[in-house]
Amino acid sequence: MSFSAQPLDIFIIGGGPAGLGTAIVAAQHGLGVAVADHSHPPIDKVCGEGLMPDTLSAMKKLGITVGHGEAVPLRGIRFRDADSLTCVEAEFSQGFGLGLRRTVLHAKLVERAAGLGVALLWGCRVSLGRDGQVFCEGRPVHCKWVIGADGESSPSRKWAALEQTRYEQIRFAARQHFCTTPWTDFVEVYWARDCQIVVAPIASEELCIAVTSRRPGLRFRDAFDQVPALASRLRNVCALGKVRGTRAALRRLRRVCHGRCALVGDASGSVDPLTGEGIGLAFRQAVALVEAIKRSEGHLSRAQSNQLHSYQAAHDRIGRAPRLMSRLMLTMDAHPQWRQRALRILAAEPSLFSRLLDVNVGELTFSRFGLGNALRLGCRLFRPGWEL
Ligand SMILES: Cc1cc2nc3c(=O)[nH]c(=O)nc-3n(C[C@H](O)[C@H](O)[C@H](O)COP(=O)(O)OP(=O)(O)OC[C@H]3O[C@@H](n4cnc5c(N)ncnc54)[C@H](O)[C@@H]3O)c2cc1C
Repeated sequence: MSFSAQPLDIFIIGGGPAGLGTAIVAAQHGLGVAVADHSHPPIDKVCGEGLMPDTLSAMKKLGITVGHGEAVPLRGIRFRDADSLTCVEAEFSQGFGLGLRRTVLHAKLVERAAGLGVALLWGCRVSLGRDGQVFCEGRPVHCKWVIGADGESSPSRKWAALEQTRYEQIRFAARQHFCTTPWTDFVEVYWARDCQIVVAPIASEELCIAVTSRRPGLRFRDAFDQVPALASRLRNVCALGKVRGTRAALRRLRRVCHGRCALVGDASGSVDPLTGEGIGLAFRQAVALVEAIKRSEGHLSRAQSNQLHSYQAAHDRIGRAPRLMSRLMLTMDAHPQWRQRALRILAAEPSLFSRLLDVNVGELTFSRFGLGNALRLGCRLFRPGWEL
């Protein structure tokens, strides 16, 4: 392990997309940053590996580009109901998304951070002493700001006394890659009895398949039995690597910063994987956090608890649409009849689905989605006996 003998501006715990994204933005602003992660790059993780158009815009601002052949362009999102076979799809109204292997994204973030002079400490576990001192592999860390970017089950959230939630809903997820020619350039979401299966093309001969479910015991392969159309497509297809599992949370914290500590990415709360917005959110939070830190520099004598209040406000605002979309997805998951009705309505009026997709990817605000659209959707959903 090596990092500067000089006190750092920012020490970041966790070198996933949120930690590296924050380090890149901080370094772009001339701050001295170190990132410590107990794993070694490129770090893989359970992920649907679909990057929405707004995530790509955020990545561009970090100076990250994706070359031809490294990823697969995605045209939009398609929902399919496994029981009723209802299908609804919408194209992204601005640009395109990308199917990109998680390890490729991580390698790019690492390369960019290193190029900007960020100290990268791999294989280093961070811990907290009794007096609140942060240690990296047993050595005390001296810095102005400590950022927790240590993921969904973040230990630093607890250390910073920020673990109080407004709400939390835990599901379970697993992912595996498959070697086959993608049959579509849409991200497909199959809605089944106990789970959703997300299929994203990530290379000319490779698919990423992620299963998310309320049932902790649902086995990855058993999920396919609930979607016969997908099971038959995959019957003779070779799986690549092992199935990886994780928890998936919709979580909103009461606070994401306190004194000289702040949380970013999944550590700061997360949205449901079906939104495909986790990584984009982390990058936008990174920008807001570094802006708040820059703004508070020069005011270090002030009561520290107030220093990052603009980050708290920005964090709340940035997550609003994906949080709402997460709730919609979870309601559809929990109430099959309601889901089938919603999908039939959207299939009959695809422009509504397009507008919902625009809201999810930040192309459209709620106010522009319109009270009229919301009421039309709501009335149809809740009108008794409505049939198509
Ligand atoms: C099933 C599923 C599908 C998803 N699909 C998508 C998708 O298609 N598109 C999308 O944008 N998002 C998706 N997401 C969300 C996305 O994966 C997360 O939002 C994103 O990984 C968050 O990044 P992070 O850096 O906050 O956390 P992580 O990627 O979890 O990184 C945290 C890092 O902290 C390190 N760490 C933890 N504790 C310590 C410690 N004590 N010391 C040092 N290091 C530590 C870990 O090693 C890890 O590298 C999906 C999530 C799930 C579960």
